Formats: sequence, structure tokens, C-alpha cells
Amino acid sequence: MYKSFRTITEKGIIVKENIEEKIASIKGEYTLRVPILMYHHIGIPPANEIRPQLYVHPDLFRQEMEYLAKNKYKTITLENLTSALMHHKKLPNKSIVLTFDDGYIDFYTIVFPILKKNYIKSTLFISTDNINKPNYLSLHQLQSLLKSKIVTIGSHTVSHLDLTRLNENRLVFELIKSKTWFLNKLKVQISSIAYPIGKYNKKIIFETQKSGYTNAVITNYGYLHNEKGAYNLKRIRIGNNIILSDFIRRISIEN
Ligand SMILES: [Zn+2]
Repeated sequence: MYKSFRTITEKGIIVKENIEEKIASIKGEYTLRVPILMYHHIGIPPANEIRPQLYVHPDLFRQEMEYLAKNKYKTITLENLTSALMHHKKLPNKSIVLTFDDGYIDFYTIVFPILKKNYIKSTLFISTDNINKPNYLSLHQLQSLLKSKIVTIGSHTVSHLDLTRLNENRLVFELIKSKTWFLNKLKVQISSIAYPIGKYNKKIIFETQKSGYTNAVITNYGYLHNEKGAYNLKRIRIGNNIILSDFIRRISIEN
């Protein structure tokens, strides 16, 4: 059985999720409802910024994280989520995943101190070519973030290209080279990937799995995940066009 949903308007997508859940339950597929939040920049957009919607004001971000901590949300990793899906296990109530795309320096200067204070785990998706570039995290900063044990690194490929436009050799390079780079430079096994600009297809899912990733996130809206969807996990975008009450509504999924 599936429960009734709170009415939150995301252009009727809730209704779609509702139907998807019903179909999954008829097919006997194991599903879990877990919001995976997607952030980019935390900061104030510069005057000439062409995509200011990717920024969340630091004060609002702090309020959001304090809300999670105060209300006993449990931040888990994508690995925790996909493992629970595979093994048909339950997750703690109020499980939530936090993801940050692109590896901007504000993660180190603004985000991390707030996460650490509230003991909130997160996953950081990095394109290896951008490490040490201006406005991006440095290798040294990544090393120090990893030491905290509350930050997991995921791949955002090598060069942040639209994977659907690449030939097979280049696709495999983007998937594997980023993974081995992290293993060599940071001594971490990477299990998660975020497809750049959310572009993917069946072939990319196949090659991602073959390259040793256990899960992948996309940019489409959703919070319902099933055992067959570990390589196209939907996320909930948190941008600068919301206030705290919108944030609370978006994460308040009955589970
Ligand atoms: Zn990106």
C-alpha cells in the first residue's frame, strides 16, 4: 500500500511519483523514499553571475542545516541508500542524503564548518580537471575534508562534459580516469558519480556500472528510489528561489 501525500506542488511531479510508487509496488520492486538534496554554490552570487539560481545564501543554508539537526534527520551516504535498496533493507526514519556538485571553494570556506558543527554528512561531486583551479577546491583542501569522515567524495568525471555526446573511448576515459585519479591521489575508492549536467542514457548507465561505480545521481526531481534505479537516482534541487518553509516542505516526505 502507498500512503497519501502532502500536497506540495512541484508542477504535478508528486502525482507522478505517486503513480510510480504504485506501479513499483504492483511489480514487487523494492522502493525507498529518501530525499537526495542537490546543492551547488553556497554564497552570494557575484553581480555578473549568469546562473544566480545555483546559489543559496549562507544564512539560509545555515538555517536549513540547523533544521535538519534539530529535527533529528539522519544524513546517510548514497552507498547506504543503494545498499539498502539492493538488500531490501529499511533505513532509519528521516534518512536524507546531501550532495554538492562541482567542488567549489565555498564548500570549504562556508559549507563545511556548518556541516561539521551540526555533524551532517555529505557527498561532494568533483571533476578532477577542476581541482586546484581558481574558485574550486584544492587537493590539499580535499585531503583535509576527507579526514573529517563526514565528507564522501564522488566523481563528476574528469572534464565535466555532456557524456551523451562522447564517443565510447572518451566516455570510458571520463568514467575510469576520474575514479583512478582519486584512488591514486587521495587513496579513496569512489562508488558514486553525478553525470555532468544530468545527461545520461542506457549506454552511460551500462559503462558506469562496468567501471565499478555502485550508484549515480541525476538532476531530475524525485525522492522515490527503487532497486533497479541505482544508476539514475533522482534529486531535489535546492536553489536560491526558496525560503526555509519551502525547504521544510520539500524534505518532509512521509517515510
Ligand atoms: Zn556539475
